Order: sequence, then C-alpha cells, then structure tokens
Amino acid sequence: MIDLTEKVIIVTGAASGIGRGVLRMARAAGAQVVGIDIAPGAEDRIAAEGGLLYRADVGDPGSFAATIDRVRSDFGRLDGLVNNAGITRAPDFLGADVAEWDLLWQVNQRSVLIGSQAAARIMVKDRLGGAIVNIASNHARASDVGYEAYAGTKGGIVAMTRAMAWSLGRHGIRVNALCPGLTLTEHVANVARDPAIAKTFNSWHATGQVNTVDQVGQVAAFLLSDASAAISGAEILADQGMVARLGALGAEKDEV
Ligand code: NAD
Repeated sequence: MIDLTEKVIIVTGAASGIGRGVLRMARAAGAQVVGIDIAPGAEDRIAAEGGLLYRADVGDPGSFAATIDRVRSDFGRLDGLVNNAGITRAPDFLGADVAEWDLLWQVNQRSVLIGSQAAARIMVKDRLGGAIVNIASNHARASDVGYEAYAGTKGGIVAMTRAMAWSLGRHGIRVNALCPGLTLTEHVANVARDPAIAKTFNSWHATGQVNTVDQVGQVAAFLLSDASAAISGAEILADQGMVARLGALGAEKDEV
C-alpha cells in the first residue's frame, strides 16, 4: 500500500502526460500536490486532478527555485519533488544547432540540479527527510537517430541521481531516477490512433502493451513513499522490457 498521507509533493510538468499520471497517483495515495507548469490551461487541468498550479518555467533557475521556496512557505513543509517536466527533440544530428541542444540541457537536465538543490535545502533545514524522483527515460540505456542531446540529458539525469543520493542520504533524503519507456501521453495516444502504429508500439514491449501514464505515476508514488525506504541512487526502468531485448526494434519504427 502506497501511503503519502499528509505529505506535500511538487510535480513539475503536471499539466499533462506522465506528470499528470504522477499527480493523479500521488493524490490517490493521500498527498497534497503542487504542480509546476507553464502550459496554457494548466491551472484547470491540474485542479481537475486535485492539485494546485504554481506557474514557473523549470528552465529559469531563479523563478523555479523561488517557486519551490514559495510552496514550502505556503504549505509549511515539503516532503517530495518529482522532476518530470521535459521536452523531446530529435533533430538530424548533422544539421542540429546549438540553441536546440542548450534548450534540452536547460529544461531537461539543468532543471533537475536546480529543483533538487532548492528542495533539498528546505528538507535539510526542516530535518524531516524527503524523497526526490528524477524522471529520466530508457533513452539513458538505448537510443536512436537524432536523440543525441535528449539521450544525453537522460543519461546525465541518471548519473546525477547517483551523486545526489550520496550528497543527501545523510540528511534522510532519498534520490532515484525513474526511466519510463514509451508512455501513452496525450501526444503518443494521438499518434497511436492509427491501428498499424499502435500495433508497432505494442510490439516493442515484452507485455505487448505500452505504459499508461498512471502506471508510471504509480511507480513514482512508490518511490516517494516510505514503502521504498530501501531504494536510493537507483535507476528504475519502467519500460515493460523494451531495452531488455537484444537487437533492433524494427525498421518500421516511427518518430513520435
Ligand atoms: P508532455 O509533453 O506530455 O508533458 C510535459 C509537461 O511539462 C507539459 O505539461 C508541459 O507544459 C510541461 N513543461 C514543459 N516544459 C516546461 C518548462 N520549461 N517548465 C515547466 N513545465 C514545462 O511530456 P511527457 O511525454 O509526459 O514527458 C514527461 C517527462 O517524461 C519528460 O521528462 C520526458 O522526457 C519523460 N519521458 C517521456 C516518455 C514518453 O513516452 N512520453 C518516455 C520516457 C521519458
């Protein structure tokens, strides 16, 4: 049983996709959840799941860290942070430009340093411990054409997580990387409306099924909870066996 009763949890990118699944599952486990997002309409989407929006861009270090501080002063405590907000880009490697790589670094990877540091400073001061979950990807393990910078951010998140677990463990703070595979976000579900594409997506998974956002959210809720007290510095693959398979996935694979 995952119990997050009375815990205050921040989820970045909570207005859609995996972040919404995390928000939903953390709420179901009893947490108070603040979503940090920039999307138009985020306030209503997060409220519909029982969360509260604090608007901030995780790529802007000052505003992101100040927002985390504001959550602590408004709610009186902070027990967990899920660094989930991210963007996916797979430009042709030979034509890719540095501005796009910089954006991937700032939004996907640097934000994990900024958010984790801000949250951990609060947790150390409050002496209540805490849990940080960094959403990476199975691209940290196996990647594809055009994903050089994206995969770099995800591999970087896994590596940073190991160091953070050791920097913060003595303060009772656990830090883990959660690596989903392809997940049925609104965008992926749209692409998978084509039955042929849905069949291909499902074929990449040992179970024959693409993850739902709630399945990934449930793993995040577990990593936030005391039920995972034995786990820190880990890379948790949640991809239904996709990268466990030897060999190529197939020439018919499309970008999503
Ligand atoms: P999504 O696009 O469905 O949702 C991302 C959310 O983050 C949106 O609400 C968006 O507004 C918000 N966001 C984006 N940039 C932001 C910023 N700078 N500041 C604040 N909020 C911002 O994405 P998703 O597919 O659910 O991805 C979520 C995370 O999961 C990402 O880190 C992604 O790399 C990772 N991931 C996704 C998949 C997948 O198949 N969808 C697989 C593996 C890993």
